[in-house]
Amino acid sequence: MSSASTKRSNRRPVIAGNWKMNGLRADGVARARELVVHLAEAGEIACDVVLCPPATILAAVYGAIRGTPIALGGQDCHPEDCGAHTGDIGAPMLADIGCRYVIVGHSERRAAHGETDAVVKAKAVAAQRAGLTVIVCVGESEAERESGKALATVEAQLAGSLPDAIAPTDTIVAYEPIWAIGSGRTPKESQIREVHGRIRKHLRARAGRRGGQVRILYGGSVKPDNAAAILALADVDGALVGGASLDADAFWSICLATP
Ligand code: PEP
Repeated sequence: MSSASTKRSNRRPVIAGNWKMNGLRADGVARARELVVHLAEAGEIACDVVLCPPATILAAVYGAIRGTPIALGGQDCHPEDCGAHTGDIGAPMLADIGCRYVIVGHSERRAAHGETDAVVKAKAVAAQRAGLTVIVCVGESEAERESGKALATVEAQLAGSLPDAIAPTDTIVAYEPIWAIGSGRTPKESQIREVHGRIRKHLRARAGRRGGQVRILYGGSVKPDNAAAILALADVDGALVGGASLDADAFWSICLATP
């Protein structure tokens, strides 16, 4: 373990499901209800569970999880609270509908919508302003990994995308190597440890002791069969799960795999 790495004993793991652009109301509500049943049967769970459905079904999914420990999150928000931004959603609107979290800077949005670090930072600040916990995504491409630039890429994204002020209650970082997303490939454990250790170092340098408490999630092809090994790594404080979060049983197995 590097000197920058820490055990998570005082950081409660988070398992967040990013449903992306998948799910009509009936599927989404049924999936959320299945998770509520799993949770009721288990009695308690050792992690925070967050569902990030498409914006169109946030309200319906909220209806299914309301009053349970399962929390709701958005998949994106606009840097401004309101205004002439057709089709966009302001962070206060997410909070108003029951969200407690929002993902910003997912690589799919960085790539498909040309989101720069500055835009991601403005969104993250908007999320904090609305009282949401923001999940800021960073991660290198395959070319950057192969040319030895993974750490430098992630450092630059952290420097440019994180709000100036961060606290464990309002900010989470998700390390998602782009080449691992939806590909069935995951980095070696040593590579995850190395990047998470570097992110921890960055957070401590930026926010001192509070930076040591900010949770760092791993994302990229987390499945029931690899979750326990990944979640046991130093400075891995949970997972951001895409494909496997569309299956309630698979997602629940990942939640149960938190140490
Ligand atoms: C994601 O898109 O955030 C993600 C981690 O996807 P998957 O789990 O499908 O790789």
